[in-house]
Amino acid sequence: MMDWLIGFVCAGLLAALGYHKHWLSTSGALAAMVMGTVYYGAGNLFWFGLLILFFISGSVLSRMKRERKRKIEQDYAKGSRRDAGQVFANGGLGMLLCIGNAIWPHPAWTLAFIGIMATVTADTWATEIGSLSRRPPRSVLNGRVLEPGASGGVSVRGTTAAVLAGLIIGLAAWLFATLSPLPTASSMAMESSWLNSGWLMLAAGLVGGLVGCFADSYLGATVQLMYRCEVCGKQVETRIHCGQPTVYDRGWRWMNNDMVNAVSSIMGGAAALLFLI
Ligand SMILES: [Zn+2]
Repeated sequence: MMDWLIGFVCAGLLAALGYHKHWLSTSGALAAMVMGTVYYGAGNLFWFGLLILFFISGSVLSRMKRERKRKIEQDYAKGSRRDAGQVFANGGLGMLLCIGNAIWPHPAWTLAFIGIMATVTADTWATEIGSLSRRPPRSVLNGRVLEPGASGGVSVRGTTAAVLAGLIIGLAAWLFATLSPLPTASSMAMESSWLNSGWLMLAAGLVGGLVGCFADSYLGATVQLMYRCEVCGKQVETRIHCGQPTVYDRGWRWMNNDMVNAVSSIMGGAAALLFLI
């Protein structure tokens, strides 16, 4: 009960900070509050710490050099203020894993969680840092030069950022797991002994982040729902562009940006789970 209370207070402070700094919309702040409370209440510092690391690093990066990115954001993103849909797309799966681990503790939940957090963090870092690259991104499918910020684009700078993000999530997982030991039952002492090896967490973060990030680019280049602005002719992710409603251009109608994030997170989590074998 105490953990839920601490979680509620910490998540409330985090949501208030996010709202005050314009990182979150009203619905996003409420979603972050619910999510943070569960991450700490059903989990512990390990779960909550990785969520905070993703949230703060991503928010700070997306606010950096705002002027330069303003134009790109108009075309390709909803803006840097996250709403509830985006908050759940980034942290919802992790929340389910956290609840699963509380009910039936097993290292698999933890490992998949590292892969998922590595994916969302790597994806955010790659997008934010990659979009500042002077060289235009290239399509992950055919190497064609794309416009900065386009879905499905990759760059050297963005990929480097993704590698760094994956390593940092792995390192942080190692640190938080040391500070706040993961719940272990005696029957899984064998399984948990390897998880206490920080090197495996580091590897899970790196591989999970890279696989998830690549999946995000691939889905973005192939099946992601894209619209076309009838005013300027650009392919965009938004329903409104140049002050006018946009029209369907390509992709699966249910595969919006949030869905792409969720599916690539699952792939990053699955990649990290391979370390269980
Ligand atoms: Zn337009």
